[in-house]
Amino acid sequence: MEFFSSDFKNIIYLQEIESIIKTEEDKIKQIEEKINLINLKNEETKQKFQLLKKDFQYLNSEKNTLENDLKDIETKIKKIQTELNQTKKVEHYNNLNTEINKLKIKKDEIENAIIAKLDEIEKKKLEIENFSKELEKENKNYENEFKKLTLEKEKIGQYIAQLITQQENIRKSISDKRILTKFDLLIKNKERIAVSKAKIIKRDDNQQYIYICSACHMKLNSGDISSLKKINTFVVCQNCSRLLYLEGERL
Ligand SMILES: [Zn+2]
Repeated sequence: MEFFSSDFKNIIYLQEIESIIKTEEDKIKQIEEKINLINLKNEETKQKFQLLKKDFQYLNSEKNTLENDLKDIETKIKKIQTELNQTKKVEHYNNLNTEINKLKIKKDEIENAIIAKLDEIEKKKLEIENFSKELEKENKNYENEFKKLTLEKEKIGQYIAQLITQQENIRKSISDKRILTKFDLLIKNKERIAVSKAKIIKRDDNQQYIYICSACHMKLNSGDISSLKKINTFVVCQNCSRLLYLEGERL
């Protein structure tokens, strides 16, 4: 099937712009993916930092608990010591003495635990300081990258807007509304490729040159080829239904 159209060139031009828009939109999608990725990475780093700070707080509260335990034990020891100084009964004296010794052992244990905890706190503090420097660096990188990508996206968006305006102007100048309707329908249903070039290729098996549809790679028959050679004429691809045209070299 062939279509002569007075707007042959305009329809091809519309397709060329549509293909550029598609490519540019794909670029925007890629940029958006990159932005999502760096956002995610930055969020992860921040969370890691928050976790470190939480660890630090937890260690400190553990240390405070130990210090309170130590105070309690010291108070108990003092109290028993006073009692011990006042008692006159030997058995009571011995019991109190044993208790004091037990408490003193516990006191030593707590003191050692506090020292170990202080050591852990110091290490965590250092870890936080180092991470904080890293975080600062990473935040700067993130901000630069985010700005760069956002600007890139904006520029492409502006370019697409220009292309859409160009398409609108071409559409206004098209008088062959029948071909325009067909074009729009194909754009909608054929992955935004309504118009496809007829391409000349050399067959691998018999080295013969043939015409194919560059969108679906279907070989064209001789009838279609002679239609293609007519001026301002599209041929409907018998396989994918797109509008085929011939440009440049001919056999
Ligand atoms: Zn085709």
